[in-house]
Amino acid sequence: MDLSIIIPVYNEEDNIFPLRDKLNLALEKLDQTYEIVIVNDGSTDATAQRLDELAAEDDRFHVFHLSRNFGQTAAIMAAVDNSTGEIIISMDGDLQNDPEDIPRLLEKLDEGYDVCSGWRVDRKDNPVTRNFPSRLANRLISRMTGVRLHDYGCLLKAYRRSIMKDVKLYGEMHRFIPIYAFWLGAKVTEIPVQHHARQHGESKYGLERTIKVILDLIVVKFLSSYAGKPIYVFGGFGLMSIFASFLCFGLMLVFKFIPDPAWQKDFVETPLPAVVIMLFLMGFLSMLMGLICELQIRTYYESQGKPIYHISESCNRGTKG
Ligand code: UDP
Ligand code: MG
Repeated sequence: MDLSIIIPVYNEEDNIFPLRDKLNLALEKLDQTYEIVIVNDGSTDATAQRLDELAAEDDRFHVFHLSRNFGQTAAIMAAVDNSTGEIIISMDGDLQNDPEDIPRLLEKLDEGYDVCSGWRVDRKDNPVTRNFPSRLANRLISRMTGVRLHDYGCLLKAYRRSIMKDVKLYGEMHRFIPIYAFWLGAKVTEIPVQHHARQHGESKYGLERTIKVILDLIVVKFLSSYAGKPIYVFGGFGLMSIFASFLCFGLMLVFKFIPDPAWQKDFVETPLPAVVIMLFLMGFLSMLMGLICELQIRTYYESQGKPIYHISESCNRGTKG
């Protein structure tokens, strides 16, 4: 199989058939074999029935139903794990991305890139709650990770399977795949893509998403820099805190024993004793926390990876999970 198009859908009943038509139109022009892996992320409308109908008509469509709504990232992981193509292309199920852009993404991979991300230059979402915060978040992510892309949030992206092999995603982290890939040495690029306003159904996200993305960014940055050595972070902070505590202790003694009576202060006349104790305890506890993290990290790396989703049934692929 050459291509796997992976699509998470959640309550997109009116988009399913238009999506099929646009996909087939765009993909049949390519002389490559393809499959379309659609993961129904616990939809509560008629999405599931329509997908089953679709799968029964056309066996290039592989449909997986998650047993409840696990979120977009988990749905994407489920699709990746159950796809076989050498190249994986992710896209929205609401036709905001345009399948006509797929050939241009593929051209970039042919040029030797491992990841090509879409950039919604003319984005058709709410300017205040979505586009503006997203622009700020993209700048911040670019700056903090060193991977310069304009639009991490665009789901239309193409990846070589080799780079997706070991990627495990949590939270809203599917957007950080190019970053993981870059850290593994992959060549990452982007191209401008079209973006359409949503015709049917409604967006599942608002402003709160940007906040989640920023928190995820902190996690990603932490994992990349310190996942293997948490004691450096916690221990580093702990040592600094203990050092500061000794400084305050010294200051306390200076005030007590300084010969000049104008400067002399008793221990209880300053907040220093409390500060000394607080800083020392904070430092000590932080070091202990670092040690716990070291234990934890060993379990993390050595235990079997459990998937973050559960498939209840699937079409054209037998039943899993
Ligand atoms: N989606 C999903 N699970 C969710 C929320 C969304 O699979 O919990 C799908 C949704 O059906 C769509 C894609 O993820 O295909 C992008 O979602 P949406 O269009 O709501 O996001 P936006 O385009 O507004 O960023
Ligand atoms: Mg959308």
